[in-house]
Amino acid sequence: MQAKRMTDIPFSGIREIFEECNRLEAKGQDVVHFEIGRPDFDTPAPIKAAGKQAIDDGHVYYTSNYGLLELRNGIARKFADENGLEYDQTDEIVVTSGATEAIFVTILALVDPGDEVLVPDPHWTYEPAINAAGGSVVPYRLNPEDGFQPDEASLREAVSDDTKLLIVNTPQNPTGGVLNEAGAEVVRDVAVEHDLLVLSDEIYEKIIYGSPHRSIAAMDGMFERTVTVNGFSKAYSMTGWRLGYLAAPTELIDPIIRLRQYTSTCASSISQYAGLRALKGDLHKPLVDAFAERREILLNRIDGVPGMSCPEPQGAFYAMPTIPDGAIDAESFVWELLRDKGVATVPGTVFGSTGEGRVRLAYSISTERIEEAFDRIEEWVKEQ
Ligand code: PMP
Repeated sequence: MQAKRMTDIPFSGIREIFEECNRLEAKGQDVVHFEIGRPDFDTPAPIKAAGKQAIDDGHVYYTSNYGLLELRNGIARKFADENGLEYDQTDEIVVTSGATEAIFVTILALVDPGDEVLVPDPHWTYEPAINAAGGSVVPYRLNPEDGFQPDEASLREAVSDDTKLLIVNTPQNPTGGVLNEAGAEVVRDVAVEHDLLVLSDEIYEKIIYGSPHRSIAAMDGMFERTVTVNGFSKAYSMTGWRLGYLAAPTELIDPIIRLRQYTSTCASSISQYAGLRALKGDLHKPLVDAFAERREILLNRIDGVPGMSCPEPQGAFYAMPTIPDGAIDAESFVWELLRDKGVATVPGTVFGSTGEGRVRLAYSISTERIEEAFDRIEEWVKEQ
């Protein structure tokens, strides 16, 4: 009964874990949630106030398909000041219902059946959109030994005459990796040599601990081929507001905006006014400081578990350590740890083959809960 294109669009790999968490919690077991990739903070008060004010002021109508001009203006200024990128607010920026929609419309507007899309391995869930477009996913390896930088040989091998689009994500979900200068140059060289389009997912831009974020579109030869995706969900803890955006030269925006008219029409007007407030000042700072503290504790505790190790995550709120001594593989470790100890994690294999022997830990939980989770992981290891 379903359309053929739905064959390759499965339920999310994390869903079964969520369901098991619900079952355990219904039975009264305490579960530590290392599996959920969302900040646990409230949205900063000034942003919430701006949303309420938008309702009171009667901003309750459709906005332009591109988004509120004032918000696009703020986004254009952000790109200019922080990323060295000059986008025209009138026709090079589109506000979307979350980065998810930005990614979906970009892929659907640019990828044809038979096209190949290069996707990092491990990676966040870009495949459903690629499959819906009739394209195929071709993974390129990120090197755990090198802080999850793109492996040049693997990336070059992945390119073919059918390659249309190259996806990069920095800071990265699921590894916490951040593209360094050498890594960015590899991506740029391959994209330019093979004349590829690039989708750069920068949703974790502001959650970064070491060297500053670099937008790949700002590199030589990249502006004209790159769609930069970003959003408000992570840095301002606004996942429920559904607000993201994309920016690209008009030639790329043209098919994207035509499609976007028929998806969600425009992002929520109320969320857009809230987003406008989020762009003013440094409201993300306390949240990023809290993540930095959690990261320190997490890394210390990972160090104390025999067999567990990972490159220091440089951004986002994820780490992808190896599984501890005594664990057979990622999948069985995740299930045993959840059922025996009530610690929910995600097997690395959900994100690609490079995730074999690793788990993703989302440290978007309190420091006390991180400590609690690791006390239980240590107990599990002792019992093996
Ligand atoms: N990209 C990445 C890498 C993500 O981790 C997420 C959310 N988990 C998104 C995009 C989508 O974010 P949103 O739709 O909430 O803006």
